Amino acid sequence: DKFKEGLAKTRNQFTSKVNDLVARFREIDEEFFEELEELLLQADVGVETVMELIDQLKLEVQRKNKKDTAGIQSVISEKLVEIYNAGEELDVRLNIQEDELTVILMVGVNGVGKTTTIGKLAARLLAEGKTVMLAAGDTFRAGAIDQLVVWGERAGVEVIRQSEGSDPAAVMYDAIRAAKNRKIDVLICDTAGRLQNKVNLMNELQKIHRVISKEVEGAPHEVLLALDATTGQNALVQAQTFKEATNVTGIVLTKLDGTAKGGIVLAIRNKLNIPVKFVGLGEGVDDLQPFDTEKYVYGLFA
Ligand code: GDP
Repeated sequence: DKFKEGLAKTRNQFTSKVNDLVARFREIDEEFFEELEELLLQADVGVETVMELIDQLKLEVQRKNKKDTAGIQSVISEKLVEIYNAGEELDVRLNIQEDELTVILMVGVNGVGKTTTIGKLAARLLAEGKTVMLAAGDTFRAGAIDQLVVWGERAGVEVIRQSEGSDPAAVMYDAIRAAKNRKIDVLICDTAGRLQNKVNLMNELQKIHRVISKEVEGAPHEVLLALDATTGQNALVQAQTFKEATNVTGIVLTKLDGTAKGGIVLAIRNKLNIPVKFVGLGEGVDDLQPFDTEKYVYGLFA
């Protein structure tokens, strides 16, 4: 299945190294835990999560009076799932309104896969029987509008656009009007991904937010942040910045297929307390999957 395929890189490196470790050590001792810790850190699981996992593993091993490493992989998976699901319960489903327009705002730095994600998400929603429209709110980056139009054509949905350099808030306003007129279910709005100037980013996102919430009560219903899994801990830094600039309701972790450091999913959940709602597992239109912790963690060792 897609999930398993998309995790091949992480599985091949991380999992095979864990398997090697287990074969090499046989007996559980301090050195085994140290090497395991190192492997987890290399997979970008994140220091805090790794520490917690190692502590939990030590307790579990003691509790079960387990002396050998055989089959420890399943204990690792169990504990990873437990740690991931601990704390506040986070809803991974999209907040889609029943009988009125749902507005989804897509944010993220250029190049992370924002446009691609919008196209994939549009296709997903269409497949679920929703009507979808796109708003070309990245009026800043050259080519961004055209790229969104290409995805719109590919998915078969209309793209509301103005010329490059126009006010993104005005594009949103137009798009909401058009979506309401045509009784569209879901409007997905692209935004510019400039991070160089945090104040500008904040101002722009806040202005867009104001326009959208004025036109549609309770909107935006989702603010999805696209993060590139291949950038590792850097993705966490971006997330922190966007979290300060706007009310991020969910994360789309893109390019998970392109990294052996898939552990970043766990670090994001535990550091930011924002649910990872989708993961990108390829460049095709079908390569956006809802995130499922158990499928993910057990998929690593499958
Ligand atoms: P944007 O600048 O954030 O809008 O980024 P794009 O949507 O243009 O994507 C940048 C590049 O990443 C493109 O070549 C995409 O095909 C690629 N990309 C996006 N998502 C994924 C993914 O989940 N997996 C892989 N392998 N590539 C992706």
